[in-house]
Amino acid sequence: MHKAPAIIVLGAGSLATARRIQQHYPQATVHGLMGRVDQADQYYDAFGDTLRALYQQDTPIIALCAAGIVIRSLASLLSEKGAEPPVLAVAEDGSAVVPLLGGLSGVNVMAREIGEALGVAAAITTSGELRFGTCLLNPPEGYALADIEQGKRFVSDLLAGETVRIEGDAPWLAHAQLPASDTAKRTIHVGCDSRPASRDELLIHPRSVVVAVAAGGPDLVDRIRGALRDAGIAERSLACLLAAEQLMAEASLPEAAKVLGIALRFAAMDSTPANMAAQALPGAQLIDQAGLAIAVASTPVDAARLGRKRGRLAVIGLGPGAAELMVPAVKAELASAEDILGYETYVRMAGPFRDDQVQHCTDNREEMQRARHAFELAVQGRSVVVVSSGDPGVFAMASAVLEALHASSDPAWHSVDLEILPGVSASLATAAQAGAPLGHDFCVMSLSDNLKPWSVIEQRLDLAAQADLVLAFYNPISRSRPWQLGRALEIVRQHRGADTPVVLGRDIGRPGQTLKVVSLAELVPEMVDMRTMVLLGSSTTCQFPRADGSQWVYTPRWYPTAS
Ligand code: SAH
Repeated sequence: MHKAPAIIVLGAGSLATARRIQQHYPQATVHGLMGRVDQADQYYDAFGDTLRALYQQDTPIIALCAAGIVIRSLASLLSEKGAEPPVLAVAEDGSAVVPLLGGLSGVNVMAREIGEALGVAAAITTSGELRFGTCLLNPPEGYALADIEQGKRFVSDLLAGETVRIEGDAPWLAHAQLPASDTAKRTIHVGCDSRPASRDELLIHPRSVVVAVAAGGPDLVDRIRGALRDAGIAERSLACLLAAEQLMAEASLPEAAKVLGIALRFAAMDSTPANMAAQALPGAQLIDQAGLAIAVASTPVDAARLGRKRGRLAVIGLGPGAAELMVPAVKAELASAEDILGYETYVRMAGPFRDDQVQHCTDNREEMQRARHAFELAVQGRSVVVVSSGDPGVFAMASAVLEALHASSDPAWHSVDLEILPGVSASLATAAQAGAPLGHDFCVMSLSDNLKPWSVIEQRLDLAAQADLVLAFYNPISRSRPWQLGRALEIVRQHRGADTPVVLGRDIGRPGQTLKVVSLAELVPEMVDMRTMVLLGSSTTCQFPRADGSQWVYTPRWYPTAS
């Protein structure tokens, strides 16, 4: 299946058309040119670079601009072999739809769909497509063409006047306008058998074969290929690799599925692979081999209906707030998430989400409960995301999730595909705006005594201040912890000069952000709230005026040597 398309908009004038197209592809993202377009889903700077990156990631591209601009931007990539996603140019006002590239990945199908959504005829120029009403070289999902070069020659032959007959089951061709004849020498053959296509046929494999295995291992791909060869089955007929649930955490399985280009599903292991395959595909023809079984169904197999997939749990960091500061891996994870858990403010910040994505918003305090809930969803085979602000490993959800897993003896929880994806933490985002206050050794502390005794905080503050480390304070103050910051400053002042620079970053990377630089002498708790990051300099931290009237703050890399 294709990735979600990217709809590229260069000016505000084409936004309406973009949204009409998006209604037809709800998963698509509207990319707007920064500074020109206000209400896009995502923004880009350089048109050519953006287009080329999307193309190389195999993302279908719908560009609302002149076809020529798109062609010129992608020209340098076209001679390279590799995946070719559908690329279309659509007139700004939606009056024309021009499929440009990706004939074999369904560009004409998309052009027709978009044309229908916009109420115009698509500018289809592919001869075979026009003559036969379908692209013979791009069979629908569930079918795979054996040999593209052979196929091109085959279609040319038909265009030159040859007739054709169909061997096997090709339901999608029922309404095609093919030059059919029972006595034709050319055939479209649909079947699983492994053999080279003959000169006069278009060989299409239905993806109707499932291979079930009892064990993974480094030679898994070779074993599967060997078994298919022995059974005379084409590799392209494979739809799915089925494995026992106990093997969920085995790395060789997803690797093999990726090499073979097939889905990976898990089923309860019922004594042998043959039993497992028979249960998954009742009525299929079974071929039983050592440690491995092949099931051949009579029609293409929908892998999503077999067993279940391995659940995934990603603990992600949104960064401070601004979309540009969110790492791409986190964006991709959010796009593919089925369930999103977190404190309501952060879940809202991570959105917008589609209707098919479930949001589970909870109170900020229910961390352990949220972590367990995330595992309960993931073991059902869902893709779950737990959201933190900044970095998930800095006073946030990653530790709670690992603690919940550590405390669990449920093997299903331990089989979940768990990953922690980092984000830009508030101290780093604030430091970057101020200059480089964390340029030398520093110490990160949470001033909250909700989860640790205040005496420990006092002792650490004293030692860290004594050690002349720059101090970064998270959770510096709150309504329920009104006096602690004042006490913390008393301790620090015993070791630091009155003119030590202090950076206060509030709502950094969010609307209404403020950045202040004050001296330690000036600093009072009233300047700070729970949305503030406090960066307190060391003896070497210094400041100087910037051209705009504010201050640069930095801590040099060097430290004076003791004499
Ligand atoms: N995981 C987060 C920190 C959570 S603790 C991270 O890595 O950034 C919450 C504290 O972080 C807040 O009390 C505040 O001190 C700080 N903080 C979080 N986001 C901030 C932002 N955008 N601007 C300033 N401080 C922020």
